[in-house]
Amino acid sequence: MHSVNIIGSDKSCRVGKIVCLGRNYLEHIRELNNEVPDQAVIFCKPASSLLGNEGQVVIPSYSNDCHHELELALLIGKEGKEIPEAQALSHVSAYGVALDLTLRDLQARQKEKGLPWEIAKGFDTSCPLSDFIPADMITDPDNLELSLKVNGQIRQQGNTNMMMRSVAQIVSEISAFYTLEEGDIILTGTPAGVGPMHSGDILEGVIEQVGSLRVSVA
Ligand code: MG
Repeated sequence: MHSVNIIGSDKSCRVGKIVCLGRNYLEHIRELNNEVPDQAVIFCKPASSLLGNEGQVVIPSYSNDCHHELELALLIGKEGKEIPEAQALSHVSAYGVALDLTLRDLQARQKEKGLPWEIAKGFDTSCPLSDFIPADMITDPDNLELSLKVNGQIRQQGNTNMMMRSVAQIVSEISAFYTLEEGDIILTGTPAGVGPMHSGDILEGVIEQVGSLRVSVA
């Protein structure tokens, strides 16, 4: 069973599906030479990809290019389908810091062949998550500074106000395709500055008001 901790609560929350948004920050789209999508790019990671705070990432032997992507994570607290944007934030019970680790070489090969690239995103330990902070502690999820350091050096820096889709739009749009259930997690996309990780690296992600996440690479 995979679960996340909620700060201030002695209960943990069992995780359902992990739904991720790609290409949500313009500068990140440009750095990878991707096209700006007219529809949200949505993919899922299995719950078996979860890794807790202070955990160790294991890069699979079939990849030589694992990238970090720092992202704001949402925890769904209430079931909904086709959720109107105006009600979307009431379905988010807590916020966390996430990494969407990506095997960029495998992803590129899959893309070239026109094949789905979820296998580049869903390996064991590919979804490190911090503890979650209750939503009522966050002033405005669409205006939070986020940054990632690798071995003490800043690699990614941004603000959720640079997202092309707001948190409410993301929840609403995903719920048009999938029923969102209590315990589901949503990853909201990454700002610019993604790059490779190597054995022995220490990654530290921080999101204003939300908290921090620290992992090492085996
Ligand atoms: Mg991502």
